[in-house]
Amino acid sequence: MDFFNFKDSRLYVEDLEVAKLACEYETPLYIYSMATLQRHIAAFNRALADRPHLICYAVKANSNLTLLNLMARAGWGFDVVSEGELRRVLQAGGDPRKVVFSGVGKSESELRLALSVGIKCLNVESEAELQLLERLCAELKVSAPVALRVNPDVDAKTHPAISTGLKNNKFGIPVAQARELYLHYKNHPYLKMCGLDAHIGSQMTSVEPILYSAEKLLTLWTELQAQGLELEHLDLGGGLGVVYRHETPPQPYDYYHAVSEKLAAFPGELCIEPGRAVVANAGVLVTKVLRLKDNGHKHFCVVDGSMSDLIRPALYDADMTIVNCNEHEGTPLLYEVVGPVCESDDFLGHERSLVVRPGDFLAVRGAGAYGSSMSSNYNSRPLCCELLVDEDRVQVIRKRQSYEQLWENELL
Ligand SMILES: *Cc1c(COP(=O)(O)O)cnc(C)c1O
Repeated sequence: MDFFNFKDSRLYVEDLEVAKLACEYETPLYIYSMATLQRHIAAFNRALADRPHLICYAVKANSNLTLLNLMARAGWGFDVVSEGELRRVLQAGGDPRKVVFSGVGKSESELRLALSVGIKCLNVESEAELQLLERLCAELKVSAPVALRVNPDVDAKTHPAISTGLKNNKFGIPVAQARELYLHYKNHPYLKMCGLDAHIGSQMTSVEPILYSAEKLLTLWTELQAQGLELEHLDLGGGLGVVYRHETPPQPYDYYHAVSEKLAAFPGELCIEPGRAVVANAGVLVTKVLRLKDNGHKHFCVVDGSMSDLIRPALYDADMTIVNCNEHEGTPLLYEVVGPVCESDDFLGHERSLVVRPGDFLAVRGAGAYGSSMSSNYNSRPLCCELLVDEDRVQVIRKRQSYEQLWENELL
């Protein structure tokens, strides 16, 4: 559920009219709803309330400082995948002791920063990374909290580009190899094996894949415990899907409660790393209709938002709901909703039934996750403005980029 609703054929975000905000702040424009974010945060908290847990918001879904600050104030930790994300969390007031650091390609300087600020855990993805960490710890005379990210070889039944837990993916360590590494490093002076981690994919719309993954983690934990290795936490990663158009994903409570029950035998802390399900439906991308065009074959609705602002349709063929912020009477036509970028793949939606006129504002729903955070300056388009609406109050949480900022680091 979210707080973007039509009243008298006009789209509102909480108590404010989207088209009015679009006129005032100009388009393309991201708008987020505070009530929706708070509702989602509460739903995740409730799902794990009956056991020790830590929710580590996956920063890459949307890394705006104000949103990170909101999660930090809710007591959440963070899952980061780069030095930039770690620095954002610190900048936003996040607690480094609640940060887990994932990723197959952490650089030496990224590991040094993570060790120096004292994060909760490094989710290590290879033996080579462990060896590098061993050397850095010896040099810096610090210990490193480590979880191995295993690859449970499970089909997350999602788009291939966002499946991460199959044995042909680059992510994680095969379970058998992870077992050996845990035992090898069990009593290491610097590397503290404190957790076990998996993240099998994104936009999962059923509970089976994550339960399978939980089962694999539980089995490995049991074996390690029998060998005298006590792990403090299990981390199930993120991946819960959302409704973009026709999907029917489980609710956060049902999804994570099922996981928690599966792990009833594990007395330690349960960590999860949700990203998409927290922010996707708390945001829309608002774009203005520049003109309509008909080539005798197809109707095109040319808008000022593009793959530079929202690349999911072009990158994953993502099918996102598009609505007119002011619904009007008329016969709908099937439109290709396309942006101004010089790429045939620059579209926001295919074959959308719309009643639309130049100057209208369209809203792409579900754009809060992997929207702004994946945006780029392609075609020298400035990164757009972002607003956070709380009832009838509006806050600019990112100013539109200026043209001067586009080339400020370039030398002539
Ligand atoms: C991307 C990612 C997540 C978040 O995935 P969502 O599908 O957005 O919930 C969590 N953990 C890791 C390691 C990731 O790479």
